[in-house]
Amino acid sequence: MIQCNGLLIAFLFFFALQLSFQLVLDLLNISYLRRHSHAVPRPFQGVVDGKKFSKIASYTKDSTRFGIVARLFDQAVLLAILLSGLLPWLVDAIKGFGVGFIGGGLIFFALIAIFSQMLDIPFDLYSTFVIEQRHGFNTRTIGLWLSDWAKGMVISAILGGIVLVVLLVLVSYFEATWWILAWVIVSIFELVVLWLYPVLIAPLFNKFEPIADRELAQRIADLMERAGLVVKGVFQMDAGKRSKHTNAYFTGIGRTKRIVLFDTLIASHPEQEILSVLAHEAGHWKRKHVIKQLLLMEAISFAGLFIISVMLDWELLYRTFGFEEQIRYVGLLLAPIVLSPLIYFLRPLGSALSRKYEKEADDVAVSLMGTPEPVRDTLIRLSADNLANLTPHPIYAWFHYSHPPPVERIERLEAMREGDPRNVREQVSGS
Ligand SMILES: [Zn+2]
Repeated sequence: MIQCNGLLIAFLFFFALQLSFQLVLDLLNISYLRRHSHAVPRPFQGVVDGKKFSKIASYTKDSTRFGIVARLFDQAVLLAILLSGLLPWLVDAIKGFGVGFIGGGLIFFALIAIFSQMLDIPFDLYSTFVIEQRHGFNTRTIGLWLSDWAKGMVISAILGGIVLVVLLVLVSYFEATWWILAWVIVSIFELVVLWLYPVLIAPLFNKFEPIADRELAQRIADLMERAGLVVKGVFQMDAGKRSKHTNAYFTGIGRTKRIVLFDTLIASHPEQEILSVLAHEAGHWKRKHVIKQLLLMEAISFAGLFIISVMLDWELLYRTFGFEEQIRYVGLLLAPIVLSPLIYFLRPLGSALSRKYEKEADDVAVSLMGTPEPVRDTLIRLSADNLANLTPHPIYAWFHYSHPPPVERIERLEAMREGDPRNVREQVSGS
């Protein structure tokens, strides 16, 4: 039986707080968009016309509404599962199989994972074939969607399975120190996956070829040399077979470190802009953002595992959700669920740090390109092509945005141009 005690009330309170906060932020963002829909923000005037501006608004509204429905559905299902007594019933049924702690844990988590993957299917289909389709982004066929889905399932079963077996073995054999061992082993495993991802996992989904344009490839090599970066290769990826969105990214560590450009980005940007995108990415490496973010994640997972280890021995946690025994693999599921509303409210810290890194990478991009113009032009084109919301509510952006909002970012680059000593000289001689 579920117990109505202080822990349950506290959990439900924070759960409801998160839910209503998310909803209010989304609605604020939409109403802000509506109030600012009469005028294109200054840096975009001349690039984004009235028609495009209303396309942006309708894409933002559609995605937000869809996000609200998907999230409410997820949260309702989670609450129903937690409060219906389904989980204690499932654990009793698994006990009947006589498979022991590790086998029982594997079956328990596998069933939950399969159930949640199934629930995701209609939302994923709707997002791809209705929303992305309606706004002209989707290029994926249903066949490709199916093969992506199947591959994704197999890969997450293998990777998730390995991590789960490690956790279950450690939890059952090392009463007090399991979490430190788990932290060390899982961290090493994550590094191995990060190292292997570009050469083993990503090629399962996309084709990666050296940049076809030899001149562009040479300019990129020169840029990387100026940045002082040793990169194992610059590749173009056939992203256009899934979507018209444009992007570029750095991936891998050590010997697998590489730059990947979407073919859609190469097709729609002039060379100087492509170089600006890469100069920005190079900025992240030069300023060591990748390694800093990795270390921060490790610190967070260290703290998280410690808190979970304390909660695993907390009898009340099990009793609250209807379990008569303290089966520790159940604790591995309940503890993160109970903590998740609290973790949600820490999000602005991560967003603020990420925005700081983005500004630093922009600064490096400007110094590598020698002038802010191409960096600014790239941002304008990227935002317009991807229908980025040009007028997000400031609180929404503060909470969620990993990048400064486009207008703020562009104005910052323009201020740099004004502060450029060459421009000052021109103004003086012109006056
Ligand atoms: Zn960036």
